[in-house]
Amino acid sequence: MAKRVVIAIDGPAGAGKSTIARRVAARLGFVYVDTGAMYRALALWAIRAGVDLEDAHRLEQLAAEARIEFEPGGSRVLLNGEDVTEAIRAPEVGSAASRISVFAGVRRAMVAEQRRIARQASVVMEGRDIGTVVFPAADVKIFLDASPEARAQRRLRELRERGQDVPAEQVAAELEERDRRDRSRAEAPLMQAPDAVYLDTTALSLEQVEQAVLRIVRERVANGQQPG
Ligand code: C5P
Repeated sequence: MAKRVVIAIDGPAGAGKSTIARRVAARLGFVYVDTGAMYRALALWAIRAGVDLEDAHRLEQLAAEARIEFEPGGSRVLLNGEDVTEAIRAPEVGSAASRISVFAGVRRAMVAEQRRIARQASVVMEGRDIGTVVFPAADVKIFLDASPEARAQRRLRELRERGQDVPAEQVAAELEERDRRDRSRAEAPLMQAPDAVYLDTTALSLEQVEQAVLRIVRERVANGQQPG
């Protein structure tokens, strides 16, 4: 059986992880896994069920019970069989995801599922702790970053494309708050793994970032041979 490859992409919100991970996965024929979508789906369930977002015990129970699935290609996200792809993109769900993801029990359930997915296929997995906690021995680790202004701009554009007209200052403030929480939490904080390649995407086009990532993958996987 061919060895499974793990490409881990971490970084703050709005650095372009999802777009790049999706494109790189399509290029390599790997499975794309958006781990933020998993925390968001769980957060959505908690909000709908009226669960207190500080109630670690209840949230842990929800995390253990939640059935979070990706449709092939990773384009649709299902929560307990319901398509929640659009619903999880609301800014308040992103904030709630960042609040519930501080709890160890919640993370344990999500990480177990992420590892299970990567046992079945080669993956491009993106999140906050993929190269540090989920797969410390990942074949390739990339830390994608961009200036706070560029990240807020990108997030604003995404929201407007989806027809959500949120004030620019609010988007920037929410992003900053979420990053601060993600970086400062005790459990699996957002940080660059020592062996990750740092890529600042502020001044780069999507194509340039994609090429840079593919170059890093080729350098690191199978002694320079194309994986797949
Ligand atoms: O990546 P995205 O913005 O969709 O993630 C939403 C939130 O989920 C993040 O702000 C973070 O708190 C949490 N998350 C996490 N670990 C991951 C992925 C996301 O804690 N691997």
